[in-house]
Amino acid sequence: MSTGCRDTPVLKQRGQREVFCGLTGIIWLHRKMQDAFFLVVGSRTCAHLLQSAAGVMIFAEPRFGTAILEEKDLAGMADANEELDREVARLLARRPDIKQLFLVGSCPSEVIKLDLARAAERLSVIHGPNVRVLNFSGSGIETTFTQGEDACLASMVPALPSTPEKQLLLVGALPDVVEDQALALLAQIGVTPVRCLPSRRVQDTPAIGPNTVFALTQPFLGDTHAALTRAGARHISAPFPFGVEGSTLWLKAIAAEFGIAPEKVDQVVAAPRVRAEKAIAAAATTLRGKRIFFMPDSQLEIPLARFLTRECGMDAIEIGTPYLHTDLHGPELDLIAEGPTLSEGQDVDLQLDRVRASRPDLTVCGLGLANPLEAEGLATKWAIELVFTPVHFFEQAGDLAALFARPLRRHAALKRQHPNRLEAAE
Ligand code: SF4
Repeated sequence: MSTGCRDTPVLKQRGQREVFCGLTGIIWLHRKMQDAFFLVVGSRTCAHLLQSAAGVMIFAEPRFGTAILEEKDLAGMADANEELDREVARLLARRPDIKQLFLVGSCPSEVIKLDLARAAERLSVIHGPNVRVLNFSGSGIETTFTQGEDACLASMVPALPSTPEKQLLLVGALPDVVEDQALALLAQIGVTPVRCLPSRRVQDTPAIGPNTVFALTQPFLGDTHAALTRAGARHISAPFPFGVEGSTLWLKAIAAEFGIAPEKVDQVVAAPRVRAEKAIAAAATTLRGKRIFFMPDSQLEIPLARFLTRECGMDAIEIGTPYLHTDLHGPELDLIAEGPTLSEGQDVDLQLDRVRASRPDLTVCGLGLANPLEAEGLATKWAIELVFTPVHFFEQAGDLAALFARPLRRHAALKRQHPNRLEAAE
């Protein structure tokens, strides 16, 4: 009987990395938190990244912006704090709808050691209690793109009010429609009360305390997990709600915490489960038997490898992740059959050598690596799409599987149309 991958030795790599920075998280966080504003304290590069990642918003007043550090700021010739205070005052005067302001650090603000934590304290005194000012870093120095959300949520924890109430806290910025599905399932199972971090509006900010248990919906929330634990809340350890199996086990772990039998969960999920299995089966016809290689990028790699190997019939060659948190990922590793290489961190050239040597059917990687690999005749999947697309729980399980089937179908179609081009690449 397979014992899973929990005890598999991990290949630790500490070399050059190819990842997006944490500012990327603002793209989905600003949609989720409807009265928050994300002010990036950065350079024109940061502003361009946000604009191109988000698309230009013409009709809506956006909920993010960049306070540009000019050369004179970077050279220490201007008082960046004074300029920041002025920018914030101007923004809040123009936008009374903003109730929460996040000062977001970037590479340039970190390089000049602009202390945004102190700036946030100072600005909270000036603009509170109407506006809460917090700060986190989205800098690309030594971070991956999903760490932006983790840093943002972790920054909120110390400011949460306290409560002695026994409650469930759902942690992770899910699209509203997916969050509503999760809340509906939990309500049918009988889990109550349930709060969300982040909340959609500041007035719904959750309180936490010693009787708060929390369930993560995303596997990249290591710092938030640590901050909540420090604040006295307790983590419910479970596989993540991707696919039928992950969603069911996640709900059962929560139900057990509230003294509810697993049979109740089975009964509630029976219909969505059938729908999900049918949708997954459609994509699995393309995925079954195909070999997949995960480069470390989104931090979703381990739960996705579990879903794709167990529910879609894929074979994992290497599962790379930027960070391996046993507390968070242990239940996933227990389910993944022994065989794939587990790697943590990256030395991109060595890892590309392993991709070329194993020639997987599909490589999950960042945008910067996808094009060169495609040019070599290898099918790729952009990891960033996995956080921009609703993929959690039963109703999205088919879409999740389809995200991986699509590049394989496209690759097969290209091969039929241009056999010589791909053969030459191979
Ligand atoms: S935070 Fe750093 S990596 Fe990200 S866009 Fe700004 S300069 Fe580039």
